[in-house]
Amino acid sequence: MKWNEGEVVENRQWNDRLFSLRIKAPAIEFKPGQFIRVGLEIDGEVLARPYSLVNSPDDECLEIFFNIVPEGPLSPLLAKLSVGDKLKVAPKTAGFLVVDEVPEVKNLWLLATGTAIGPFLSILKTEAPYRRFEKIILCYSVSTQDELSYMETIEQLLDAHKEKLAFVPFVTREEMDGAIQTRIPLSITNGELEKRVGVVMDESNSHVMICGSSAMMKDASEALGERGLRKHLRREPGHISTEKYH
Ligand code: NAP
Repeated sequence: MKWNEGEVVENRQWNDRLFSLRIKAPAIEFKPGQFIRVGLEIDGEVLARPYSLVNSPDDECLEIFFNIVPEGPLSPLLAKLSVGDKLKVAPKTAGFLVVDEVPEVKNLWLLATGTAIGPFLSILKTEAPYRRFEKIILCYSVSTQDELSYMETIEQLLDAHKEKLAFVPFVTREEMDGAIQTRIPLSITNGELEKRVGVVMDESNSHVMICGSSAMMKDASEALGERGLRKHLRREPGHISTEKYH
């Protein structure tokens, strides 16, 4: 593959293991929710991994949000990059976790854990979802408060879309005012999430996009399955969209 040359214009550190890079790179077309491969040239070989884009398509820079995998070969190096450092960016994006793939429905639920909030922020920075859905509920689960990133961005989105957008933070390993303290799947099963937002989640009115680790996607899909929601396929429309990265 022919890689594009990118240059770091900002490295934002959120806590000891969470980072965002803004990257100046040749313009590409993509759909919000898609991912791109980003990497470094090491000993003449490009080592790259897929990262969801956090930026909106009209942003002049690309943005990725990632955590350091301590023994990983790439993320510790990406985290150390400074403004002006070069990296490799794929010329194309991929992925189907996009609003265009969602069937006609009243409410859109976005369930994310950790860095998987990224693709949903890209989606929510565009106008299309607010035109299409009556209510959009963004759920963001982290273990501890210091992992809640992009809260300014989320506040701005909430301000701009007061009637349409609801936000529910989940902080699972400590108490935080306003946050739910259980994992997302349990909050679906016990009704706490619906109660919190005052919106009923069922197969007649809801589509759910899930992004996170495979264990989280499995557990959330099972909790939704108990309510009659099933996986969405192009050939067999359903209610749950997920993305496999690796
Ligand atoms: P994480 O630490 O795995 O997850 C944080 C939150 O998820 C915590 O609240 C945790 O609850 C909860 N959780 C853990 N296992 C769960 C389960 N089985 N069901 C429901 N909730 C669960 O977050 P992370 O390490 O940042 O991982 C994010 C995942 O998203 C990774 O697998 C990554 O590959 C993937 N992803 C990344 C990107 C990207 O662009 N960087 C994009 C899409 C997806 P507890 O505190 O109770 O454990």
